[in-house]
Amino acid sequence: MIRRDEPCGRSIRMPIERDSPMNDKKKLLVQKFGGTSLADLRGFDASASVIAQYADEQRVIVVLSAVKGVTDLLLAAIDTAVEGGHGAEHLNEAIAREQVIIDELAEQGVLTSLASEFLQEQQSVLTRRVEGIHLLGQCPDETRARILASGEGFSSRLMVDLLQQRGLRAQWSDVDVLPLANEDWLDSLVDIDAAAPLIRGRLKDDTQVMVLPGFYGRNARGDIQLLGRNGTDYSAAAIAAAAGAGLCQIWKDVDGFFTADPRIVSNARCLDEVSYDEAMELTYFGAKVISAKALTPLAANNIPCEVRNTYDPSLPGTLVHSEAQRTHVVRGISHLHDVASITLQGGGLRGRVGIARRVMDALASESISILLIVQSSSEYSITLCVRRADEGKARKSLEEEFHFERLHGLIEEISVQSDRAVVSLVGEGMKHYRGIAARFLTAISSAGVNVEVIAQGSTECAIAVVVRGEDAQPATRACHTAFFSHSTHIDVILLGCGNVGSELLDQFQRQAGSLIEHHMDLRVRAIANSEKLLISDDVLDLSTWKQQLVEEGQSWTLQDVIEIRTRLGLLNPTIIDCTTDAGLASEYVRFLSHGFNVVAANKKANTSKLEYYREMRDTAAKNFRKFLYETNVGAGLPVIDTLQSLIRSGDELETFEGILSGSLSMIFGLLEDGMPLSKAVAEAMQLGFTEPDPRDDLSGMDVARKLLIIAREVGLQLELDDIAVESVVPLDHVDHIERTELIGALEALDDSFSSKIKAAEASGKVLRYVGRIENDKCRVAIEAVPSDKPLGAIRDGENALVLHTHYYQPIPLVLRGYGAGAAVTAAGVFGDILRTVWRPLDN
Ligand code: ADP
Ligand code: ASP
Ligand code: MG
Repeated sequence: MIRRDEPCGRSIRMPIERDSPMNDKKKLLVQKFGGTSLADLRGFDASASVIAQYADEQRVIVVLSAVKGVTDLLLAAIDTAVEGGHGAEHLNEAIAREQVIIDELAEQGVLTSLASEFLQEQQSVLTRRVEGIHLLGQCPDETRARILASGEGFSSRLMVDLLQQRGLRAQWSDVDVLPLANEDWLDSLVDIDAAAPLIRGRLKDDTQVMVLPGFYGRNARGDIQLLGRNGTDYSAAAIAAAAGAGLCQIWKDVDGFFTADPRIVSNARCLDEVSYDEAMELTYFGAKVISAKALTPLAANNIPCEVRNTYDPSLPGTLVHSEAQRTHVVRGISHLHDVASITLQGGGLRGRVGIARRVMDALASESISILLIVQSSSEYSITLCVRRADEGKARKSLEEEFHFERLHGLIEEISVQSDRAVVSLVGEGMKHYRGIAARFLTAISSAGVNVEVIAQGSTECAIAVVVRGEDAQPATRACHTAFFSHSTHIDVILLGCGNVGSELLDQFQRQAGSLIEHHMDLRVRAIANSEKLLISDDVLDLSTWKQQLVEEGQSWTLQDVIEIRTRLGLLNPTIIDCTTDAGLASEYVRFLSHGFNVVAANKKANTSKLEYYREMRDTAAKNFRKFLYETNVGAGLPVIDTLQSLIRSGDELETFEGILSGSLSMIFGLLEDGMPLSKAVAEAMQLGFTEPDPRDDLSGMDVARKLLIIAREVGLQLELDDIAVESVVPLDHVDHIERTELIGALEALDDSFSSKIKAAEASGKVLRYVGRIENDKCRVAIEAVPSDKPLGAIRDGENALVLHTHYYQPIPLVLRGYGAGAAVTAAGVFGDILRTVWRPLDN
């Protein structure tokens, strides 16, 4: 057997193996070919081959849509003419799409008498009708129906020509065999019981294939009435029900029903089967596979329906039937665009009986269908969704209906959110499992998407959420990953690609294989330096990023970065700040509120004003985003995480002392060996241990920032100014000189440093540059520390943090190791990135 439910099911080519009673050869087969199967001559040929293959063995009724795009063009011609334009351009293009197929066939010597004659006649009829609309400035629905139906009239005749040419006994039939159940020019219903004898009567004994135009029927007077947009599915379903067909097939340009729209979710899988209810929910909320209206007659008459690919008929497709297994918790995810959500809100709604009914009646009187409706449990508000095209009418009818309540302030204004989408999760198996809604919402949140409304039907077959229109794609992708992929995805935007940033990218590249083994899909989607931003629609090639950034990078603004999330539909979007830029650090709140996680190597945000410090944390919490900065202190050493765990478990810091600067650790080690200060600084510089300008280290501010971060982590409400900083050398001594003169200027301090060191040595101590927290006060200064205590042994660029806490005494907790350097810092950032994610559960 073919293993279905595989990603990229479309690439599997195998013979059909489904051998179910549905394919009962004695019974009639109804086949529907949609616009995507009839896009051009190749499509007509492929469709004719499929029909021929089945017609050899059983009687077939074929129902056809118009040539792809023709209905839309005819509609555009009408709308243009109504608005005062001529509409001829659209009409001519529609006709040209049909004519080109006839011409191509003529070149091959194939005669298409039925279709050619029809097209010729229609050309003048349609032209006259569109001119009439232009003159009148309006189009009665009756005329609209006649114009739109012509597309199906053409394609069905052309198919008969083609089938006859292949030697099949094919017969064209008018839709007078589809009597209609109601008077609706544009969205009518078929009277299935009345249609049954008519269809059977029309089938001649020697007919192999009967071909009918889809999309319309005729009323009792013989006038054309449409069956609604995408109505050919419904034509086929109604015919299948009326004729007692054993199977209805819907032929398209996709392998079948996918777990999500394959144009949006590239790894969507083709489903083996779905139940009628599942198909209904999926299509109702946007999956363009089979129209929701068509499912009713199929389900009511228990007619199985196959969704198949015209261009690859060897594939089994998806079977929609009542016996679909319920082993899958979730069957698929669909999304519906162009939705408006309308909210009625106000104290006057509370406790009043019949509000929901009045809402529904008001909209029903305007023939507006409500996609979903939710009432808050406080009865304070009702939110409903309608199609965007109905938004204006819906608002007006609700305003009229609730005129009295509005006048007396019982309800506030009716608010309308225009550009919304509904994303829904569908599966009958949901009824039997807990936690599906939680997983659904977690997944949506992981894409940084805000959920405005949640609705779960009483069937428990679907959960739907309303999101902003632009968020539909990222939300759909995130849900698909959560329910159908066994990997965790992280989409990374790297800002700053100097030492640490470049090393991080190298580490990503080296670890790619191992991450995949651990089901972690880490994708770098954008890289920026201060000048250029490089974005990839897919994943950036990490072996060539430097060159690509130079060649393809564009100048950028923060808004460009923010827009990447929705534009590319990122999952777990994470911004990595590997710069030291204060301006960028001041934008973290904006990033977090737009749904990004933030991983910062940059210390500036955490040492900015307390107010901003708190705002970042609040914003991260409110948006369920992560703000991680483990490398802010001690580079790769697990400082922040350790502190947070201790504090959360009820520990309290008593005193802290630490050597927090790799450069100063190196310099003070050299001093201890007897090297004069000026030489020690020069040597550290040469070894690459200092900042480009060593005064940044000597000022002590870098250590002060780290100390402040630790202090805030343990709950002290301090500002940077509150840290007492004694610089390594007097600042006025080195401040006003050129960088090149620095070493020379330091020579003047060599002697005083040597004597301080000697004095310390005499009492068994060494000099160290120490950050200290004691009695809720922070101080950074040179200290003489006993050489046998933890800090006394720290040199050569090492860092050490000594935590005397309530739990850790009398022996303190000591963290020690290299606290600087690209490799360890990048590794720390890497660790933070991996900590941003949740793991998807297995479906
Ligand atoms: P036709 O007019 O031939 O019936 P449509 O254009 O109406 O076809 O719809 C076909 C398209 O629907 C496919 O090409 C596919 O991209 C899209 N589609 C959306 N959701 C799904 C889904 N869940 N499974 C399969 N196709 C889907
Ligand atoms: N041609 C019609 C439409 O585009 C009907 C159909 O294709 O099903 O709506
Ligand atoms: Mg269609």
